Amino acid sequence: GTGRPTDLIIFGGTGDLAMRMLFPSLYFLEADGYLADDARIIGAARGDLSRDAFLDEVHKRLKSHIPKKYYDADVWDRFAQKVDYKSVDATDGSGFEALAAALRIRDGSEAVFYFSTAPRFYGDLCAQLKAHDLAGPQSRVVLEKPIGHDLTSCRAVNDAVGAVFPESRIYRIDHYLGKETVQNLIALRFANSLLEPLWNANGIEQVQITVSETVGVEGRWSYYNDSGALRDMLQNHLLQLLCLVAMEPPTSLDADAVRDEKLKVLRSLRPISKQENALKTVCGQYTAGAVDGKAVPGYFEEGEGESTTETFISLRADIDNWRWRGVPFYLRTGKRLPYRYSEIFIQFKDVPHSIFPEESNLTLQSNKLIIRLQPEETIKLLMMNKVPGLGRDGMKLQEVSLDLSMSDEARSRRRRIAYERLLLDVLNANSTLFVRRDETEAAWKWVDQIAEGWRELGQKPKPYAAGSWGPSASVALTERYGHSWHD
Ligand code: NAD
Repeated sequence: GTGRPTDLIIFGGTGDLAMRMLFPSLYFLEADGYLADDARIIGAARGDLSRDAFLDEVHKRLKSHIPKKYYDADVWDRFAQKVDYKSVDATDGSGFEALAAALRIRDGSEAVFYFSTAPRFYGDLCAQLKAHDLAGPQSRVVLEKPIGHDLTSCRAVNDAVGAVFPESRIYRIDHYLGKETVQNLIALRFANSLLEPLWNANGIEQVQITVSETVGVEGRWSYYNDSGALRDMLQNHLLQLLCLVAMEPPTSLDADAVRDEKLKVLRSLRPISKQENALKTVCGQYTAGAVDGKAVPGYFEEGEGESTTETFISLRADIDNWRWRGVPFYLRTGKRLPYRYSEIFIQFKDVPHSIFPEESNLTLQSNKLIIRLQPEETIKLLMMNKVPGLGRDGMKLQEVSLDLSMSDEARSRRRRIAYERLLLDVLNANSTLFVRRDETEAAWKWVDQIAEGWRELGQKPKPYAAGSWGPSASVALTERYGHSWHD
């Protein structure tokens, strides 16, 4: 940061995301002393609200979203002094003059404008900022997902924002990148010499990335129905994780050094041709079933009519470069699956030859690195070890788990919301963990041809019972290549 005071303006400040994630994250930044004394946070949204009424709402929602033991009335009082509300409308520009007058940007301070409205307003918001002289070099914008629903619409959003702000001042959020274990993956890969020599097609048999949800579409059916699992989850979160696993070592942690490497991965993804589409992708939609022992309705019943939107997708991705030739990257995400968890699973090659007696070979397993992002954040390395003792054959093997997770001390601390890291980074103008324009477009390009393949082939999602691991075709997908899902 420059040390100059920064105003943070949250457009959509009364919305679900702001109330559930952004304000609680900012509250915790305050609690930990990361917000400057003169920092200011301005909720800006449609609707006439007094500052007091807005603060009451933030307060109420904060208390309902964070565990009681982390609520501190003194911290709240300090935090509340920094919070203000302005009523604005992005489409007719009302309220922007008053907003501009309240900001210190005209005196040389910085401003961060966080767009937490529906993306269709991003262009209007930018135009208003420009019209009110708020888009100069001291201001940055943060964009929430989704950036479009295909390559064309993504470009339109990027063009509209890019017409007002240079890329260096645009911060695209993918909150998965704010997760502690995701950053730990970078440390694991590049702060150790042990793994990197094996981190390629010679050392690695397969990679799996799973984001599994137990919830259905909840109250957001019509929003979700326009997007589906491919666009809502795979295009952004899963591909970003894939990039961090697969990228070449960047020369530094500089934003562009890291993002250049991620972009190369996205550009190396082999397009899934129409011929291969049915072999390498599976889409599904949940029907009635039971999750956690509770009966739940199917997607149809929750919705507003018939739909061909997929609530599950699994696929095999191939990265066409030297490092990853032939290594499958299996990606899978869905709703109403048996457990809620997100995981990167990396299986190393088998030992080339076993010297152990036949009985031990039954237990001889390949090494695995398992990175859990959710619900707990853990990193484990599974290795073979001798069962202690004097067995008759002298040598029994067992798989043991090396726990590379945070220290016990760190674990007992509060788990941060991913947005805390990202909000702090944008206040400090550090864009390493934000997604660059060319990344979003490369990801859409790859995802578009999958959707295009489904359309041309008339591929409808296959039904799966809520509480199962998706359509049985998903099991067949990995087995076709001699692998199986790590559940
Ligand atoms: P929401 O519908 O709950 O809130 C929308 C906000 O935008 C409200 O504060 C509203 O007053 C404001 N708004 C609407 N029209 C406006 C206008 N013309 N001018 C100014 N403000 C206007 O939406 P949300 O769920 O909070 O989502 C916000 C953004 O975050 C969206 O881009 C969404 O895709 C993204 N997002 C949300 C979630 C989530 O969990 N809610 C998750 C991921 C991404």
